[in-house]
Amino acid sequence: CGIVGYVGGRPALDVVVEGLARLEYRGYDSAGVAVLADGKLATAKRAGKLVNLRGALAEEPPPAGTLGMGHTRWATHGPPNDRNAHPHVDCTGSVAVIHNGIIENFAELRAELAENGHGLVSDTDTEAVAHLLEEELKAGGDLAAAMRRVCRRLEGAFTLVAVHTGDPDLVVGARRNSPLVVGVGDGENFLASDVAAFIAHTRDAIELGQDQVVELRAAGVTVTDFDGRPADVTEYHVDWDV
Ligand code: GLU
Repeated sequence: CGIVGYVGGRPALDVVVEGLARLEYRGYDSAGVAVLADGKLATAKRAGKLVNLRGALAEEPPPAGTLGMGHTRWATHGPPNDRNAHPHVDCTGSVAVIHNGIIENFAELRAELAENGHGLVSDTDTEAVAHLLEEELKAGGDLAAAMRRVCRRLEGAFTLVAVHTGDPDLVVGARRNSPLVVGVGDGENFLASDVAAFIAHTRDAIELGQDQVVELRAAGVTVTDFDGRPADVTEYHVDWDV
């Protein structure tokens, strides 16, 4: 339902949770975050309103990191509980993914993954993507290359955002039939399903096109198609109030 990603100089958790709060108006049933700090991935997720997640984060504060992402879920596959909330993580705990939309061929992907020894712990269509990214990373290349290869196998509607401990300055986003917007900052960049999430920080934005992947680093943004070909991007200024 709601997606926020951040990489820059500030504590990512603050930016991400604040962004999720700005997307609350869309409605949701669970919320979660992932932060990358000291080469490790920390995640927290809770069914219910953002206040539940905030409570969990206050009880067990994750290490401070400057790269992170957050999600508010509107359940389509699996009931709204802590386990099914996003982010979803692979077997090694090194890749985390959040997702808006529906992956239509999830049943065959989950079956294939189970056959290859992956233990899936949620009921979601989304979790398959975490394990597919794990497989592709094992096969070589970075997270963006893995995301492109995985997206080519997915059917349906998706906005995906992923992070990986092996790429500590990189947030990768991808989209098909579901929106994703980049917020372009100064030494920091944002990703969101809706500009409302980052408008307090920057009004310079790039709307991702159909079947595109974005590599978001503190220093800049690269956009390609699912085959890795560079895409033309047009930056615009958000001059309306949201
Ligand atoms: N299909 C996913 C799920 O059920 C994502 C739902 C959403 O867009 O929030 O977890």
